[in-house]
Amino acid sequence: MQVRDELLDFAGTGLSVMEISHRSQPFMEFAQRSEAALRRVLGVPSDYHVLLLQGGSYLQFSQIPMNLLHKTNTADYIHTGLWSEQAANAASQYGEARIIASSCDTGFDRIPEINESNINLDAAYLHYTENETAQGLQFSEPPASPIPLVCDACSSLMSKPLDISAHDLVYASAQKNMGIAGVTVVLLNPAILDKPLPGTPQALDFSIQAKKQSLLNTPSTFSWYVLGLTLEWIERVGGVNVLHEINKKKSKLLYEVIDQSEGFYINNVLPDYRSINNIPFYISENNLNILFADTAQKNGFHGLKGHQSTGGLRASIYNAVTLDAVQALGEFMREFERTHG
Ligand SMILES: *Cc1c(COP(=O)(O)O)cnc(C)c1O
Repeated sequence: MQVRDELLDFAGTGLSVMEISHRSQPFMEFAQRSEAALRRVLGVPSDYHVLLLQGGSYLQFSQIPMNLLHKTNTADYIHTGLWSEQAANAASQYGEARIIASSCDTGFDRIPEINESNINLDAAYLHYTENETAQGLQFSEPPASPIPLVCDACSSLMSKPLDISAHDLVYASAQKNMGIAGVTVVLLNPAILDKPLPGTPQALDFSIQAKKQSLLNTPSTFSWYVLGLTLEWIERVGGVNVLHEINKKKSKLLYEVIDQSEGFYINNVLPDYRSINNIPFYISENNLNILFADTAQKNGFHGLKGHQSTGGLRASIYNAVTLDAVQALGEFMREFERTHG
């Protein structure tokens, strides 16, 4: 793999990317090429900022209200599961975070109906979580919003096309579909920027980060580098549309195994809202869930335990997971059902 080959010699410098300065010419040139690739791959409007920040998507839950709530002191949230709830909770420390729609009552089995008349026209923005990673439900379209639209695309950006111009802010950390942990992509329409709240640190001020091209202080250079290589790979394979087709095939295959198991495996999300990235499921006979995860691991399928908040099992099939690997998992699931069902 290219990361391994270049580990000790970045861009012919004879130095590792971890050793060279983030202000050195080879690194700056690589960073500029990566930003251009990111804009091409996602179709980012030319006037939008592309920020590469630290702190993960989790910090965005706070950084966004810190930068956008000064004037209005209020924002609207769509509640679809664990991550949107955390985002709203974090924002409520800085102002009012109103839940305007929720599928909590039906166990997060769907994206709730969004009644536009519930959207507060005075709110700074409407926030939604494109793909709920723990619950395994996903929007098929961005919600229609008369106010600026903010999207947590942490677990889906670059796994399917997303109309960036329909949004004013999109954020995603790299480690799910586009690289390794340590860098978070923020795509931002500068028109929505407000004065940051008093006390906002410089490093968390979107305007300052934009002016400094995300180089206010030392970034996670190695994470930027892996993101850049991932973007090159995405362009080589034909772009996000191609990945989307593969991801649809991968998820369809696993949902078929679940639905054809006649109640042995259960996924409670209604078909229209099922995620192509994360497939949570459980075995109705409870004591078999741990056995499944352990047996899977012995057979080379790692990380199938469900999110700690939901329990059960979950297959996260991000861009890096191949169709072959998902096919093998599907066969393993059928075999496990045959021997334990
Ligand atoms: C993983 C995840 C987060 C948190 O991302 P970090 O990089 O760990 O901060 C936020 N939102 C969603 C939807 C996620 O899947």
